[in-house]
Amino acid sequence: MKAPTDPLLTWAPAPADHGARLRVLAEAARAAGVDAVVLAPGADLRYYLGHDQGSHERLTALVVRPDGDPLLLVPALERPGWDATITALGLAVRSWADGEDAHALLARALPRGARLAVDDHLPARHLLALQRAAAPADIGLAGALTAPQRACKDADEAAALTAIAAANDRVQAAITRWLRPGRTEAEVAADIAAALVAEGHARADFVIVASGPNGAAPHHSASDRVIRAGDPVVVDIGGPAASGYNSDSTRTYCLGEPNDPEFAHVHAVVCAAQEAGVGAAVVGATCESVDAAARAVVVEAGYGEHFITRTGHGIGLEVHEPPYLVRGNTDPLAPGQCFSVEPGIYLPGRFGVRVEDIVLLGADGRPRRLNDSPRGWRP
Ligand code: ZN
Ligand code: ZN
Ligand code: ZN
Repeated sequence: MKAPTDPLLTWAPAPADHGARLRVLAEAARAAGVDAVVLAPGADLRYYLGHDQGSHERLTALVVRPDGDPLLLVPALERPGWDATITALGLAVRSWADGEDAHALLARALPRGARLAVDDHLPARHLLALQRAAAPADIGLAGALTAPQRACKDADEAAALTAIAAANDRVQAAITRWLRPGRTEAEVAADIAAALVAEGHARADFVIVASGPNGAAPHHSASDRVIRAGDPVVVDIGGPAASGYNSDSTRTYCLGEPNDPEFAHVHAVVCAAQEAGVGAAVVGATCESVDAAARAVVVEAGYGEHFITRTGHGIGLEVHEPPYLVRGNTDPLAPGQCFSVEPGIYLPGRFGVRVEDIVLLGADGRPRRLNDSPRGWRP
């Protein structure tokens, strides 16, 4: 199998790229009047340092300031795991031992009465202790600064997302190897999870196999329900490559002739809505206009009340990240943004249909689907 050796699946930015990303963040902080950005283990830290480790209750934090070099605060016992990152980036580091007051140390690295932006995923225990120790004048979410940068993928990130989308497509295209009448959703899901790994994922993060009435719940997982011939089955699968960049695609299949006479029509409506959503996703269009374009098709067909989700979400180092294609989001789409377009129709007690592709906005301003496995319901 050629996939796992694809270098795009294991790609990692060079230290110079991380340095450049940090400088962009520092500049964004300056422009926003923020004195210091405090990042915690998670996707932001992975984006800026290439490293996302750190235990939950011991404080690990990266301080990024417009005036001055970044500082990494790290528990002494976890310091060895950071050595390569610290060396590669020439990071200033302060390690702390159990028994020391890590939040006071962090506060000492911040200007008194500072305007802070903290990681959206900083645990509340650290946030409250930091507030007490640093007495900031103002505190906001770092996501306001990091999300616009992370949302616009550069050419290397786009290639990494394209490679893992192709791995996801290979699993969807071979779905009949696992999806067969008489098997339970859970049995099918376990095989699909293994196939995702075999095709190049570091792990399967989610495998939704939602047959018959279970398909009406968008985030149903996989149960012991036995899949029968004629059942519509929603298959929504994905996870990260070793690069950290994620895949996510949905197809809705039916084995044999549909047992619900409305299914084929509903499937056609969802495919048309998905086509309309992708077509509307051009640079400069608002996020909510993409949602509106997909939704108009569903409403026109009379299923508006059964399209109970937003149309899509950004994807990158997280499966769900900005931009969100949802009513009320008037942010314009920008080149390099990468997101799902996944309208669905969910009929309680009967079945659901969802079709989802990841779409990348190119430098030409046009959408390009990264997923291209067959969208028809006959597997
Ligand atoms: Zn979802
Ligand atoms: Zn999705
Ligand atoms: Zn999905």
